[in-house]
Amino acid sequence: LQGYVGFANLPNQVHRKSVKKGFQFTCMVVGESGLGKSTLVNTLFNTQLYPPRENVALTHESPQTVEVKSITSDIEENGVKLRLTVVDTPGFGDFVNNEESWKPILDDIESRFDAFLEQENRVNRRKLADNRIHACIYFISPTGHALKPLDIEFMRRLHTRVNLIPVIAKADTLTEEEVAAFKQRILADINYHKIQIYQAPTYEYDDQETVAENHEIVSKIPFAVVGSDKEFDVGGGRCVRGRKYPWGIIEVDNEEHCDFVKLRQMLIRTHMEELKEHTNNVLYENYRTEKLAAMGI
Ligand code: GDP
Ligand code: MG
Repeated sequence: LQGYVGFANLPNQVHRKSVKKGFQFTCMVVGESGLGKSTLVNTLFNTQLYPPRENVALTHESPQTVEVKSITSDIEENGVKLRLTVVDTPGFGDFVNNEESWKPILDDIESRFDAFLEQENRVNRRKLADNRIHACIYFISPTGHALKPLDIEFMRRLHTRVNLIPVIAKADTLTEEEVAAFKQRILADINYHKIQIYQAPTYEYDDQETVAENHEIVSKIPFAVVGSDKEFDVGGGRCVRGRKYPWGIIEVDNEEHCDFVKLRQMLIRTHMEELKEHTNNVLYENYRTEKLAAMGI
């Protein structure tokens, strides 16, 4: 190893340091109630972050505004720790008048930017707590037709502030053809309204396999997802997470059945750090610049 300086090991060092510190990620879910947000979060992280519906006390006085509720959980896989925060937005789209449904959500996202900015301006900035939203999964109702005005308004208002990841909720209620046509329509609407959804980037220096994998992920957006907290024995000692129909089982983890695996891959395996970097380097930075300019600084 003559002439070997050792900096080629830097990525491993960074990796080891982060493994020790643990990873941290904050994800928001938005969509009308009943679209399967809580179920999908449980399915994605394979935890019971949200208790089953039966166990949730039913309150008769439903709130009149959109709430922002966050749950943090420490999860661990093969010795790697992840502090996961999921921010839910109950009430979104559920009222007679939903015109301002996006407002409390935008306010929440910006107040998290403000809190970060405030810490950065302190003299002692050693421990910055990052409570910014790194990704926002937006649930589109599986109507099969087009985006609703509510969807368009939300995405238009939020796209410069958060990484938007649109998904088709409860995709098992649509046929394969319906999903394909709906995706085209959604992308056309997004394009028409000049909405910037999260673009999972590929890098020139990535190997061919990674580039192909990324293309595969991007080609599935908006991900058609299915969530479930039930498992079924499908014979041959195979147990699958899925939803049961008279004609068969829709498997959550089967890529021929839905895009759940691709969404999870992007969010957790391939782009978690990138989502955080984009939040910090682009979304937060733009907000900060605008804010300082507005203050005349
Ligand atoms: P949330 O209000 O958006 O959090 O929705 P929940 O996760 O509480 O789910 C609402 C209902 O939809 C529950 O009865 C779930 O079992 C059901 N559900 C959740 N995900 C799916 C799905 O992917 N497909 C179907 N068909 N039903 C789902
Ligand atoms: Mg819920």
